[in-house]
Amino acid sequence: MIKAENIKKIYQTNGDRVLALKGISLNIEKGLMVAVMGPSGSGKSTLLHILGGIDYPTEGKVEIDDVDITNLKDKQLAEFRNKNIGFVFQFHYLLPEFTALENVSLPAYLAGDKNAESKAVAILTKLNLKDRINHKPSQLSGGEQQRVAIARAIINNPKVLIADEPTGNLDSQNAKNVIMLIKELNESFDMTVIIATHDVEIAKYCDYIYHIKDGMIEGIEKI
Ligand code: ADP
Ligand code: ADP
Repeated sequence: MIKAENIKKIYQTNGDRVLALKGISLNIEKGLMVAVMGPSGSGKSTLLHILGGIDYPTEGKVEIDDVDITNLKDKQLAEFRNKNIGFVFQFHYLLPEFTALENVSLPAYLAGDKNAESKAVAILTKLNLKDRINHKPSQLSGGEQQRVAIARAIINNPKVLIADEPTGNLDSQNAKNVIMLIKELNESFDMTVIIATHDVEIAKYCDYIYHIKDGMIEGIEKI
């Protein structure tokens, strides 16, 4: 489902070269939930960005469902992403002037979905946010904001959900609720999930933990 072959990433900033990924290969089967753990600066975000097609590797190849996404041009890659991949980040990046309903329906509108609004209502209801649909992000608690962000990430039924420290900004109870929600989505929709986290308690919900250090995979642990 997600295949990476010898991915390298070099960041170049004012003459400084940072080798962020030093040759990562992996193969994640459909429907698996995988955690990526490692110290700060080890390359977790870089890896997730490349696997999700937000960024290109300097070398190597990424295939999602047999599509070589490293070969796609910007515009095709953006299209592929909107259709197939959902993202959740540590900070929710919801649009502050928009309600929960508007934030969640937006990606579906952009994809030309005529049922964008009713779909958004259905997802928000499922995530226990029915009485929050007309709230703006500032009127929601941290846990609610992150659930709205997850609703937005999944409205186009992505095959893959990529979550970069999705619970990093939440207290432990909300973190647990969010990871249980992600697990439920993983199981009920056979959605492949990749989560970068520092939190062992969060990683325990996954099928595998990829330990990365200095831009390399140090080991793969089965849970
Ligand atoms: P992690 O998510 O594990 O903290 P990152 O993928 O963010 O690690 O970073 C890996 C390395 O790449 C770090 O040394 C970081 O400073 C560097 N890096 C990340 N993003 C950039 C960037 N846009 N430009 C230059 N260096 C970067
Ligand atoms: P949690 O601990 O579940 O994240 P909080 O204790 O932060 O929730 O918030 C409790 C309730 O108060 C939430 O349902 C939220 O909608 C509401 N709330 C939180 N912050 C605000 C705010 N700034 N304005 C309006 N309502 C808020």
